[in-house]
Amino acid sequence: MTEFELIRHFFARQPVSRADVATGIGDDCALLRPPVGQSLAVTSDLLVSGVHFLPDVDPVSLGHKSLAVNLSDLAAMGAEPAWFLLNLALPEADTAWLERFCRGMFDLARQYDVQLVGGDTSRGSLTIGVEAHGFVPETVALRRSGARAGDRIYVTGTLGDAAVALQHRLGKQRLSEADFAALVERLDRPVPRVREGMALRGIATGAIDISDGLLADLGHILEMSRVGARIFLDKIPLSPIGRVHAGRFSWEAALAMGDDYELCFTVPPENTGTLEKLRLACGVRCIGEIEAEPGLRIVDESGKPYRPTFTGHDHFVKTKQGDT
Ligand code: ADP
Ligand code: MG
Repeated sequence: MTEFELIRHFFARQPVSRADVATGIGDDCALLRPPVGQSLAVTSDLLVSGVHFLPDVDPVSLGHKSLAVNLSDLAAMGAEPAWFLLNLALPEADTAWLERFCRGMFDLARQYDVQLVGGDTSRGSLTIGVEAHGFVPETVALRRSGARAGDRIYVTGTLGDAAVALQHRLGKQRLSEADFAALVERLDRPVPRVREGMALRGIATGAIDISDGLLADLGHILEMSRVGARIFLDKIPLSPIGRVHAGRFSWEAALAMGDDYELCFTVPPENTGTLEKLRLACGVRCIGEIEAEPGLRIVDESGKPYRPTFTGHDHFVKTKQGDT
C-alpha cells in the first residue's frame, strides 16, 4: 500500500462531515470556517511508543486515547471540539493495526462530532501526534489563571482508577480479574469531559484537566493564579473499587499518578448553587478551597496534615506539622 492509498483508505473516508469544513483531507491545506465572535482553541499532544504507551497496546485503545487526551484539553478550556489533525509515523503500513487504530479514533470522533481535516504520514518509529481545534467565546474560556481566594475547588468523576489499573498491568499492584476489568476502561478509554467543560462556562473561574495527577495539575492552577489551597483527603472522590481494594495506595494514585482526564476547577461561592443545579452526569465533588497563602495543604480524615509519599512534581509545598 502506498502512502496515498493508505491516506485515502484509512483517513479520507471517515464518519464525521461538518458544515464548517469547506475543504477537508486531500488538498494542501484544509479550509475551515470558525464561527464569528469565538476564539479558536488549539491544542496538540504527542504520543511516542515506549514513552507514552506500551508498544503492544491495543490499537483500538490507542486510537481512542490519542484523540481523547486532546479533547480533554479542549474540555479544560470550556471549548466545543470541531476539528482535528493526525500526524502519524509508522514503522510499516500494517493494515490490520491501522483498521483497529482508526476504529478507536473514529468511534470517539463520531461521539463528539469532530472531523479529521488533515495531517501527515511518514515511515518512522511509531509516534502519534494529534492536534485538536475547538471554539470558545474568549470571555468565558476557562483559564488556569482565574482562581481566586475563597473559590471552592471541585473535581469531576473519580480519581486514581487509571493509575491503579496501570500498576496492576505493570505487576506492581494486584487486583482481581473483575476489578481490573472494571478499572482498565478508565486507563484505556478515558472519557473527555467535554460537555462538562462547556457547561462550566460562566460558572468556573479556573480549570485544568488532570493528566499528571491532581497535585501536579492543581499546582498549575495555584501557580498561574498566584494563590494557595487546602484540600481534604476524605473528600477526594474514589470509585468503589478504588476505595475498597487498593487501600492507601488509592489515595496516592488519586493524588499523584495521573491519567485521570477528569477536570479540576474552581467556583466562587456565589456560583456553587448554579453548579449543583447542572447535575452533571459524571458527578462533581468539592474537595477544598482556594486560599490566599501560597502552597498546597492536604488535610487527612483526622484533621492532620497529610504527606503523600509520591508527588511527582515541583509545585507541592510540604505541609507544616500542626498546620491543619
Ligand atoms: P503534502 O505533501 O502537501 O504534505 P500529503 O500528501 O502529505 O500532502 O497529504 C495529502 C492530504 O492527506 C492532505 O490533505 C493531508 O492533510 C492529508 N493527510 C495526510 N496524512 C494524513 C493523516 N495521517 N491523517 C489525516 N489526513 C492526512
Ligand atoms: Mg505530507
